[in-house]
Amino acid sequence: MALIELRNIRKRYPAGEQDVEVLHGIDLAIEAGEFVAIMGSSGSGKSTLMHILGCLDQPSDGEYRFAGQAVTAMDHEQLAWLRREMFGFVFQSYHLIGTASAWENVALPAIYAGVSREERKQRAQALLTSLGLEERLENRPNQLSGGQQQRVSIARALMNGGKVILADEPTGALDSVSGDAVMAQLRSLAEQGHTVIVITHDAKVASHADRVVEIHDGDVINDTRHQPHQQDRAQPVSRPPRQSALPDLGEVLEAVIMALRSLRANWMRTVLTLLGIVIGVGAVVVMLAIGEGAKQDVVARINDRGTNLLVIRPDRGQQRVADGVIATLVPEDAEALKKLPNIRTAVPEISGNVTARANSKDVSTSVQAVSEDFPSLRDWHPVSGIFFGQQDMNSYAPVAVIGQTVKANLFPDSDPLGQFLMLNSIPFQVIGVMGSQGATDWGDDQDDVVIVPLSTGTLRLFGQNYLRSITLAVQDVSQIDATEKAAVALLTARHGREDVRVFNMASLLDMVSETQNTLTLLLGSIAAISLLVGGIGVMNIMLVSVTERIHEIGIRMATGARQRNILQQFLTESVVVSALGGVVGVVVGILVGSLLEWLGMAIVFSVPVMVASFVCAAGIGLLFGFAPALKAARLNPVEALSND
Ligand code: ADP
Ligand code: MG
Repeated sequence: MALIELRNIRKRYPAGEQDVEVLHGIDLAIEAGEFVAIMGSSGSGKSTLMHILGCLDQPSDGEYRFAGQAVTAMDHEQLAWLRREMFGFVFQSYHLIGTASAWENVALPAIYAGVSREERKQRAQALLTSLGLEERLENRPNQLSGGQQQRVSIARALMNGGKVILADEPTGALDSVSGDAVMAQLRSLAEQGHTVIVITHDAKVASHADRVVEIHDGDVINDTRHQPHQQDRAQPVSRPPRQSALPDLGEVLEAVIMALRSLRANWMRTVLTLLGIVIGVGAVVVMLAIGEGAKQDVVARINDRGTNLLVIRPDRGQQRVADGVIATLVPEDAEALKKLPNIRTAVPEISGNVTARANSKDVSTSVQAVSEDFPSLRDWHPVSGIFFGQQDMNSYAPVAVIGQTVKANLFPDSDPLGQFLMLNSIPFQVIGVMGSQGATDWGDDQDDVVIVPLSTGTLRLFGQNYLRSITLAVQDVSQIDATEKAAVALLTARHGREDVRVFNMASLLDMVSETQNTLTLLLGSIAAISLLVGGIGVMNIMLVSVTERIHEIGIRMATGARQRNILQQFLTESVVVSALGGVVGVVVGILVGSLLEWLGMAIVFSVPVMVASFVCAAGIGLLFGFAPALKAARLNPVEALSND
């Protein structure tokens, strides 16, 4: 059985309406260990035949058997195995990777054979040394002469064994001295048992071989053996195994190294692509931190005012007795509300503006007439003296507790306790000074206040007893809605109609935090869109990169890269860019966020958001890198190779 058997091989190329046939039914058998020259004039179909022999291209018709196996029935994986483990190519134009050094070019086929980096380097160096290139290991192809480049490509052909060497016009671009050296090398390979097939248009070159097959216009016209074939020196060949489609760890690591290298080679482009992802990820991190910060800020303010509170006010539509006074709520309502379940306390309140005088100073301030439970309701207590009690309420005591601002205005140098204060010309004795409370959210000074017993206030200051509000504190906040309903029902029964409005702090909190969530979502989606735009940038650049490197892809395929390896290479590149952009983006996001925080903005970072946006960025690389990578992997090796 011959090593290579071609039966009735035809090759047609599409050309306009009709296909043009370039090979018209070639029959050829080559034994293992033969040194054959395929000779013919230019355009006779030699290269086409070699591409079919080397599994770089498929015949349109006919049967090709390699070591008895039908090549025409093999899948991509098996064809790649044949190219990698059985064949070694030597081309007229060398087809070396320009960005890789001599030894790296030689070592390329071994990457796809899963050989470790150390072993690859050693073997590549040994091969180059045996071909007299030990001084040129680190040189790039453009730093080598034509003859040297061709020797590099011979070394590459031998890297994985090169049982069958296919050389297409190996001397075509060389001067006669270098050409003779290359032919001598091929002869010595044949003597070592390699099967050597040389393609040439030159009878002188062909004369080096043991057998010359002449083709003319796609037909074999002559087949002469000058030397008897020595079967015994042939190297044994094996058959392609069925391989698992799963990449191993070393392969992935190798792909990452290759990706980093090619990203570095185009560093400016890489930086710009990266920028798109960095801005996207950074924006997501910062926007969500701003949104969350704003939300927590508002929620904290509402919480400060107490989520356990229900504030009951007269309905504005009700009848007024004097300016600003609505005749609905009375102090007895508060007493009744206190008896409802789940009510901790109920504090009635009337307030108004008064002129306060002491130490011959006049100030305009507000007065709040409340019940004795006020301090516990607001969690606001005197820092000196005492608050008034039940006793003072019952006896209409003319006592007052003053806020810090009133103290500062009227009693700047003396202790106000025990002193008298005129409120609208009515004397009140100061019995306590409240702690400082600061301003409200809308800027009112809460310390600019005089607090008096409700009874005294209604009788002496306001002259009426309609309340401005009753504030209820509930025991169990989870029951607050039921308590609100019960309170409204009670007041409706007492007043004969529904004439109050209730402000429920807990539901206000829910509403506000929901609004803030919507805002955060909005900010987040704008940021996510910019991440998407970054992803499209990655895809764009990967497409460009594939187009630019079609020749390199062809070389990789010819040296045995599987479709999977090519797919992996480009996918890895886009994932590496995106993941790198993701990491930098998170860091930039944290920096910008911290800057904003330092400038006084409320910022709350979230680790899950950071992890998610990083994963998103990497995922986008995978997603948007897939189409370009697939495009690369599906390239036809011959077409890719001819793309210079
Ligand atoms: P040789 O190597 O003997 O010079 P080739 O095998 O390269 O010849 O080409 C043989 C013929 O096939 C030529 O006429 C060439 O124009 C044609 N040919 C080669 N490749 C293609 C292709 N991809 N599409 C169309 N025609 C092609
Ligand atoms: Mg040719």
